[in-house]
Amino acid sequence: MHEMSVAVAMVEQVTEAPAGDGHAKVSAVVLRLGELAGVVADSLRFCFSLACAGTVLEGAELLIDHVPGRARCAPCGAEWATGMPPQLCCPQCEGGRAELLAGREMQIVALRHGEDGPGPDPAGPVPVHAKES
Ligand SMILES: [Zn+2]
Repeated sequence: MHEMSVAVAMVEQVTEAPAGDGHAKVSAVVLRLGELAGVVADSLRFCFSLACAGTVLEGAELLIDHVPGRARCAPCGAEWATGMPPQLCCPQCEGGRAELLAGREMQIVALRHGEDGPGPDPAGPVPVHAKES
């Protein structure tokens, strides 16, 4: 279950955040999730609610900001939406040297705190590193 390890990594990352953020009750976590990140959003939401139990994140909502996959062809410069499964062959020149521009993101971009309005955001997007099990 890949989503479970991602969810656990997210919870650890939020609860271990510096500057005392780990002690404030968190009501929602905003995650930027690429189409090609290999994570199923519904499954991640479910695992996240389990991983939150007993932490300051208990009851927090997972808000997912979906990022569509995009690729660019190096030789001709064409850009296109890759879709899923990803189409990595250039639709214009049929070249095979596509560069992935977006779609593999998995970053916590904001935390929301329940009682005191919007809390401070982490300093920039934070990549989630799932532990391989
Ligand atoms: Zn091309």
